[in-house]
Order: sequence, then C-alpha cells, then structure tokens
Amino acid sequence: MTEKLSTQEELELLVQKIRRCTVCAAHLPLGPRPVVHLHSEARILIVGQAPGRRVHETGISWDDPSGDRLRDWMGIDRDVFYNVRKIAIMSAGFCYPGRHPRGGDLPPRPECMPLWHPQVLPLLPKIELTILAGTYAQKGYLKSRRKSSLTDTVKHWKSYIPRFLPLPHPSARNIAWFQSNPWFEEEVVPYLRDRVHTILSL
Ligand code: SF4
Repeated sequence: MTEKLSTQEELELLVQKIRRCTVCAAHLPLGPRPVVHLHSEARILIVGQAPGRRVHETGISWDDPSGDRLRDWMGIDRDVFYNVRKIAIMSAGFCYPGRHPRGGDLPPRPECMPLWHPQVLPLLPKIELTILAGTYAQKGYLKSRRKSSLTDTVKHWKSYIPRFLPLPHPSARNIAWFQSNPWFEEEVVPYLRDRVHTILSL
C-alpha cells in the first residue's frame, strides 16, 4: 500500500509539473520559464500579472522596482517577502509573455490561470489573505464581483476583505494613478500593512 502524500509533497509534485509546462510555448518569445514561489504553509498569497523580462532571467518574482513598492506597501523586507513558508507568489501567467509593440509587456497568457491556479489553491490551505495586484489577478479571482474599472474595484476594497485585497499594480507606470488617488495610500496601504503584520505575527 502506498503512503498518502502530505500536502507539501503534493504541491512539490505539482510545481515540478508546472516547471515542465509548455502549453503556450509557441506564444512566448523567450520560451517557457514558469516562475512561482509556493509552500503549503504560506499564509499570504500574492497574485500579480506575469513575470517581466528581468524576472524571467532571475527566476525571482517581484525582484524589481515594482516589488520594492509592493514590499513598502506591505511593510516588510526582502527576507520576509521571500520566505515561502509565509508568502506564496504566483502570477496570472507564470511565464514572460513578451513586449507589446506599443510599449510595456503583453498581458499574461490566458491559458495559464485557468489551467494551474485551481490545481495550486487546494494545496495552499493556510492562506488567509490573497493580494490581487492588478486587473488580471482581479478578473481571475473576483470574477463578477469585480467593478467596471480597477479604480472602482480598489475603492470597494472593504467588500472583498478579509479573503481578498485588490491593489493597483505597483509598477512605476501607475505613478499618475497613485498621485490622483491619494485615498489608496491613506486607507488601503495602512490596512494592508496591519493585516500582513498580524497574519505573520511580525
Ligand atoms: S504561461 Fe503558464 S500555461 Fe503558458 S507555458 Fe508558462 S506555465 Fe504553461
């Protein structure tokens, strides 16, 4: 009789499968390199958009100025952020999708989230808060509960807590948004920081 696998062992097997994924290889200019950081003990899940080129090269999610801003919002340093037993990270699309001809990166590949997220989530049973950074994460997780714009969705953040917290993507491309929506840094960021510190007992 074979022994039943632990949740962590099942998750490790799934991550091996994810790392071999080639489902949308034909659309990826640099080829598949799925970047995820997952552990069954994690208490917070961050769902972002898709790896940028730098993350494709390093294999480390949020290892860029957007990640610095997100860590600042969460009130944590890199050691806590990259402690996979505390914080799990997976994007709407796991591989770098390439550049848009008009600038910026292409959207995450649409095949990825419906294929992998429903397999990963049951193996993250301790998640108390899922941070939804940007439109694609919000579309995938809030579905019909999402408002008609990112601004409206983030403004209604209280209707999604405690399970989900929608955020704008922390990219420098959104600086104008941060400046024209000061309520975000006044109300949402302090809540996020408190919640992260409470969940992680910091
Ligand atoms: S983006 Fe997702 S579905 Fe496409 S190859 Fe990478 S892991 Fe597979």
